[in-house]
Amino acid sequence: MNWPQTVKVIDVTPRDGLQDAAGELTAEQKIQLCRDLYAAGVQSVEITAFVSPKWVPLMRDAETVALALRELSDTIALVPNQKGFERALATGVNAVTFVVSASPIHQRENLRMSLADSFEQFRRIAQMHASSQVRLRGAISCAFGSPFSTESITPETVADIACEYVDSGAVELSLADTVGVGTPQVIYDTILSVKQRVGHHVPITLHLHDRYELGLGNIVAALAAGVTVFETALAGLGGCPFVPDAPGNLDTEKVVRWLHLMGIHTGIDEHALSQIRKRLLKDLDASNGRAD
Ligand SMILES: [Zn+2]
Repeated sequence: MNWPQTVKVIDVTPRDGLQDAAGELTAEQKIQLCRDLYAAGVQSVEITAFVSPKWVPLMRDAETVALALRELSDTIALVPNQKGFERALATGVNAVTFVVSASPIHQRENLRMSLADSFEQFRRIAQMHASSQVRLRGAISCAFGSPFSTESITPETVADIACEYVDSGAVELSLADTVGVGTPQVIYDTILSVKQRVGHHVPITLHLHDRYELGLGNIVAALAAGVTVFETALAGLGGCPFVPDAPGNLDTEKVVRWLHLMGIHTGIDEHALSQIRKRLLKDLDASNGRAD
C-alpha cells in the first residue's frame, strides 16, 4: 500500500478534551497547554469552543483563551451557530469549525435547532464573511453512527450534508465519529461516498472517538481512503456531553506513535507530547482536589 509521507494531526484537547473532563483548567493553564502543543510541533490546535456557557460552562473563558493566542497560527475554534461565529471572529482565530449532526436527535439535543436552521446560519456566515481570512470548516457529528438505536446513518446521508456544506462555502470538512461506533469498512465507505459527491479537492479531516479500540484500524482505513488529517486529544480525553456514555477521543500520543511507526511524518515530538500529557493530567487532578 502507498501511505502518505506526511499526516497532519490537529490536537483538540483544549476543546473536546476538556469540555467533559473531570476537573477544570484555569484559562492560564489552557493557554499554556495550547502554547506547549504548538511548541511540540502540532500545527493546528482546536483551542476552544464559542458555545453558550449555560450549556458548556467549562468553555466560558473562550474569549480569554483565544485572545491570548492571537499571534499563533493555526488556531481553530468550534462554533455551533452564528452567535458563536461572531464571538470567534472578534478574537482573531484562524479557522472556525461549524458543527451540525448527521443524527437528527443529536442535532436537536446538541445544537437545539434543525439541520435546515443550522445551514441557514452557516450560509449567512459564509456570505457575510466571504472576504475574511477565516477558514470555514464544516464538521459533521455522528457521521459514522447515531447514539440512538432508532436512527441509522448511511454514507449517503453524510455525503448529502457534506455537499450542502461545500455548496454553502465550507473549504474543509471534518467527519466525526462522535459515538465511537465506526468500523474500518464504514469509515472507508463513508469517506469515499463524501469524496464522490464533493470532489477530491476538498480536504477531509477525521475526528474519531474510540469505543471498541478500533482506532488504529480506522486510521488505516481512512489513510487508504486518502484522508491525511486527524483530530485527536491527549490521554484520549473528551467526549460529547450530549451523547450517553460517550467514549474519549483517539489519543494524540498513540496516533502520533502509530504514524511514526508506519514511517509517516507528523512533525510532532513524541517526548514533548508525553510531558504535556503528564502535566495536563496532574493539573486536572489538582483542580479536582480544589473542588472537594
Ligand atoms: Zn469529539
